[in-house]
Amino acid sequence: MKVQFVDLKAQYRSIKGEVDAAIGQVLESCAFINARGFEAEFAAYTGAKHCVGVANGTDALFMAMKALGFGPGDEVITAANTFIATAEGISWTGATPVFVDCDPVTYTLDPAQLEAAITPRTRAIVPVHLYGQPADMDPIMAIADKHDLLVVEDCAQSHGATYKGKKAGSFGKAACYSFYPGKNLGAYGDAGAVTTDDEALATDIRKLGDHGSNVKYRHDFVGANSRLDGIQGAVLSVKLKHLDAWTDQRIAAAAAYNKALKDVCVVPLTRADTRHVFHLYVIQVNNRDELMKALGEAGVGCGIHYPVPLPVTPAYADLGYEPAQFPVSCGIADKIVSLPMHGDLTAEQIQLVADVVRRVAK
Ligand SMILES: *Cc1c(COP(=O)(O)O)cnc(C)c1O
Repeated sequence: MKVQFVDLKAQYRSIKGEVDAAIGQVLESCAFINARGFEAEFAAYTGAKHCVGVANGTDALFMAMKALGFGPGDEVITAANTFIATAEGISWTGATPVFVDCDPVTYTLDPAQLEAAITPRTRAIVPVHLYGQPADMDPIMAIADKHDLLVVEDCAQSHGATYKGKKAGSFGKAACYSFYPGKNLGAYGDAGAVTTDDEALATDIRKLGDHGSNVKYRHDFVGANSRLDGIQGAVLSVKLKHLDAWTDQRIAAAAAYNKALKDVCVVPLTRADTRHVFHLYVIQVNNRDELMKALGEAGVGCGIHYPVPLPVTPAYADLGYEPAQFPVSCGIADKIVSLPMHGDLTAEQIQLVADVVRRVAK
C-alpha cells in the first residue's frame, strides 16, 4: 500500500463526471478568459463583497499590495516561516519585507513580537494562516489599528478556516488565495484570487490584471496580464461544492493522527475557537532524516514546510538577517515534517503512516 502526500488522482476519480462535464461546457462556449461565475461563488463562500480571480496566489499577493500603493521605501511585516511567495508579493511592489518569528505552538506569526518590528516606514502586516490554522487575528488587528497599518491576509493555505467564528480572510483589507493544484481548493493548473469588501480596490486589482484597463483599449495605467481562466474557474466551481466535506475529512484525519502520535512526537495544536483546515499536518521529531527515510521506504509521501526560514534564505541574504533573530523558525526548521494530508486518506493509510512514525520517531 502506498500513501500519497496529496492524492489528486483519487480526488479526480471521485468527481470525474462533474468536472469533465463542467470543462466540456467551457469548451463548448469557448469562454476561456474569465471566470466570473466562480468569482461570485467564492465571494459568497468567503463572505467577501468582491472576489477578483488572478493567475496564481503569488500574483494575488503582489497585485493586492500593488493596488494598495505599496512601493519602494515601504516596509511590510510578515512571518519568517512561510512559503517564499508571501515575501515575493511584497518585494515585487518594491517594498521591503520585514520578518517576524512565529509562535512555537501554532507556527503562526507571534503577535508579541510584532510591535518591535514596526518603524515609521511600516505600511502593512501580512499574517499567513499557515498550515490551515488562522493566525492570532485579535492581537494582530489591535496592533494594526493602533499603528494605523493595513492588514493583507495570506489565505493560500486556509480556504474555509475560521477564527472565533469569523472566516479567515475577513479581518484585513484584502485576502489572497492560491488555487495551486495541491491547495485545499485546487485548480487543474495555476490560479488565485483576491477577496475584499472594498469595491475600488477590487476594481484596481482587476484592472491591474487586465493591462490597466476595464474599458477595451483604454489603459489607465501600466498593468499586467493576470486573470483566472474559464477552465480553471469551472473546475473550481465544481470543487468548491465539495470543499467543506473534504475539510471535515482532513480534520478527522488530523484527529486520528493526533490520537495515534501524541505520545511519540510533537503534534499540531489547534487554537481554541478555531477551525484549522489542515492544509498540512506537521509534526516535530528529533530524528527527521531517519523518519523521512523510513516513511519513503514504507511508500509514504512526506515533505518539509519549510526547510529554510525566509530571512536566512539566499534570496533575502541582502536584508542581513541572522538565524539567531529567529530562534523559533530556525529551531524547528530541522525538526518539522509534514505527513500525508488530504480528503481521501483511509483509516488503513493513517494507521500505516502512524505505525512508521511510532516505530522510528525520537
Ligand atoms: C502556495 C502559497 C502561495 C502562492 O501561491 P501560488 O498559487 O503557488 O503562486 C502564497 N503563500 C502561501 C503561504 C502559499 O502556501
